[in-house]
Amino acid sequence: MSPELFSLGAEFTRREITGSLQEWEDAGEIPRALHLAAAKQGLLGIGFDEEVGGEGGSLADLVALQEGMLAEGASSGLLAGLFTHGIALPHLARHGSAELVDRYVWPTLAGEKIGALGITEPGGGSDVAHLTTRAVRVSTGSTTEDHYVVNGAKTFITSGVRADFVTTAVRVSTGSTTAAEGAKGISLLVIDKDTPGFTVDRNLRKMGWHCSDTAELGFTDVRVPVGNLVGEEGAGFGYIAEAFVTERIALAVHAYGIAARSLALTAAYARERRTFGEPLIARQVVRHKLVEMHRRVEAAKAYTHAVVREYDESGTTASTIAGAALAKQTAVEASQWVCDQAVQLHGGTGYMHGTEVERHYRDTRILPIGGGATEVMTDLAAKLLGYAS
Ligand SMILES: Cc1cc2nc3c(=O)[nH]c(=O)nc-3n(C[C@H](O)[C@H](O)[C@H](O)COP(=O)(O)OP(=O)(O)OC[C@H]3O[C@@H](n4cnc5c(N)ncnc54)[C@H](O)[C@@H]3O)c2cc1C
Repeated sequence: MSPELFSLGAEFTRREITGSLQEWEDAGEIPRALHLAAAKQGLLGIGFDEEVGGEGGSLADLVALQEGMLAEGASSGLLAGLFTHGIALPHLARHGSAELVDRYVWPTLAGEKIGALGITEPGGGSDVAHLTTRAVRVSTGSTTEDHYVVNGAKTFITSGVRADFVTTAVRVSTGSTTAAEGAKGISLLVIDKDTPGFTVDRNLRKMGWHCSDTAELGFTDVRVPVGNLVGEEGAGFGYIAEAFVTERIALAVHAYGIAARSLALTAAYARERRTFGEPLIARQVVRHKLVEMHRRVEAAKAYTHAVVREYDESGTTASTIAGAALAKQTAVEASQWVCDQAVQLHGGTGYMHGTEVERHYRDTRILPIGGGATEVMTDLAAKLLGYAS
């Protein structure tokens, strides 16, 4: 992992984030100016090719950058909001037309636009292959006039309140044919926020990730030009599956990153806080607790780094899909235990709003659900690793 990118992330966080993070947590969103500042510093484009407006670099580079940010106190929610383009753009950058790349990828990596990814629906999120938002293709005889009419709803959409466009998973049919069921019926359409019939129906309040806005979105007879189709009709499920690998790795990094930060804060607190006439760290039971926190963080980090190396060499394969799912699970389990112990060792202070470990404790709870629930990931790994019946 690149020490320069780790330092860049840490320095950016000290300069642009830590002083304002609580304010953004209370406001329920991060400012657009932060996207511009991050782009100016070259952070948003890491991991995207220069031909689509990125900075180049590998997944390992992005991981190093985000590790540096989390080590300085950036929260998991902050990263979810600032790097939503990491889930909204990969399909567009890889499979989108040159026009879509120009209209959405370049300005988003420049920090001028915000994108979101709309897959989950009120009726369910785990079973992506059975999503129900419909897009009926209307042929007019003129390629510039041909369009889809979209009806449905999406929920729990990160950055959906602020987003200028949503990369939206839909089920396409034409006027004369019914939509294909299952995975083969899914396509991705880019839908602009100002399209008539598109609505941000709710700004959802959450247990954690407070500075990351989360929306419920509605689509009522939304007319979307055919040019906004990403890649091929019916290929959306494959594009989504391909991009899930980097999303799950990112969430693994959030998990061990906030755990490592919680450990550092707790070790400092244990040196300073005295009980029964001695610093907490003078007790063997406390030192052993800190070592166990350290062990779990390091194991999660090492596993995740191994999958990242494999991904940078081989891309999306059965092995990296399974590896990303299991690295996420490993990191999430470490994070949940470590963040809980961090609150415990902070005593009443750890339960107070505004104490940093309290925020990480709440933020970590989304990680075994978002980007694929642990149970669903384990089922996927069973299939890919040959343990299915
Ligand atoms: C803060 C937040 C941000 C999010 N951001 C986005 C986003 O930007 N874009 C987006 O599209 N989605 C987003 N999501 C949605 C997220 O991906 C889904 O919540 C997740 O995939 C689970 O779907 P669900 O909530 O519908 O749960 P369900 O699919 O209803 O499952 C409920 C629970 O049942 C269990 N379960 C489900 N299936 C199985 C099974 N086969 N075997 C055993 N147990 C099972 C799991 O414990 C699961 O958590 C976000 C969610 C949250 C909370």
